[in-house]
Amino acid sequence: MAEFRAFTVRLPTGVRYWTVIDDQYRVVAAADEFLLHLRLGRDRAESTTQAYATGLALFFAWCAASGADWTVAAPRLGRFMHWLGYFSKNGGGGLPVVGCRVRGAGRVNAVLAAVREFLKHAVSVGAAAPGVLDGLYEVVEDWDLPAEVRGEGRIGLRSRPRHRLREPQRAVEAATDEQVLALLRACHRSRDRFIVLALWRMGLRRGELIGLRREDVHFVPDATRLCCGVRGAHAHVVRRDNRNGAAAKSRRSRAVPADWLVVQAYDQYLAERIACPEADRCDFVLVNLFGQPLGAPMRPQALNELLEALSRRARLTRPVHPHALRHSFGTNLAASGATLDEIKDLLGHAAFTSSEVYLHPSQGRLREAVGRVALPRVARPVVR
Ligand SMILES: [Zn+2]
Repeated sequence: MAEFRAFTVRLPTGVRYWTVIDDQYRVVAAADEFLLHLRLGRDRAESTTQAYATGLALFFAWCAASGADWTVAAPRLGRFMHWLGYFSKNGGGGLPVVGCRVRGAGRVNAVLAAVREFLKHAVSVGAAAPGVLDGLYEVVEDWDLPAEVRGEGRIGLRSRPRHRLREPQRAVEAATDEQVLALLRACHRSRDRFIVLALWRMGLRRGELIGLRREDVHFVPDATRLCCGVRGAHAHVVRRDNRNGAAAKSRRSRAVPADWLVVQAYDQYLAERIACPEADRCDFVLVNLFGQPLGAPMRPQALNELLEALSRRARLTRPVHPHALRHSFGTNLAASGATLDEIKDLLGHAAFTSSEVYLHPSQGRLREAVGRVALPRVARPVVR
């Protein structure tokens, strides 16, 4: 079976993207054209081209194994899904793995999303016939979308991918308030306290927090002197290719409000930071203050290591991951009555579906809801 794989390319400008090559190291031209467009034309991250190239390598391997022509393969994507689920490309020689899935529904859907984007692009540049889109999408009513997306009571039409596996509903792994308070008590340093609070009270992603620059932090009631019209203390999350490997996932910049707890922790951190002269030259907010190289931007992995150490010190049964604190923020927003569009904007989600997971009530909230239902008079137990 012909092998295809993702391969990284570095342009003379230093910009990197991922492409698809076959077992003779020949570039798959159509995939390469799409992936380069994604990186340069659509300004997508290198990691996005890597994920797409990995998915497309599987698609071209299936086309080669099944004799399908990729330009007309859209109606047969159901067979591709089956192949993805039960055939192992690596180590299996393209043979079916009997009795167990080799890829879960989430992975299969991610590969399908990459293939859809690739085929849509191929249609737009004339490399595939427009009829391909009919094989990819069907038109359905949009009654299942949240009201914020549909508009007041209106039911319209939308296109929906034809090929998609049902994914098991995942509960978000949010840290409980008790766990976060234990983490805060375990912090010996102001920097670490600021990190925990910025993740928990602002809901920043790990890469967003690590990538913050000092100029992004507007922790003042009125930022007009900083040429910023946003009211109240806030931080700007801006997508950059940072040298510490941190990247804001969202391509849209957003201003995230900060409450007094975060602002106070930041002020205390700045006092700690001033004591490290090497940090003065660094424009990143989070820098190494206690380990070498002093004053250098913190690495994304260092945040995980810090939270693991704090979790151990707080005697938690399992380490708290940075993303669990972001989930706590989303969960607390939902529990306090925030609307779906507020949650979406605060967390910087591209789609409402990402924000909806926070609306699933916990067992505790379900129990409280039942407890709020008043008993009818006749059913009240008689106490003698
Ligand atoms: Zn601002």
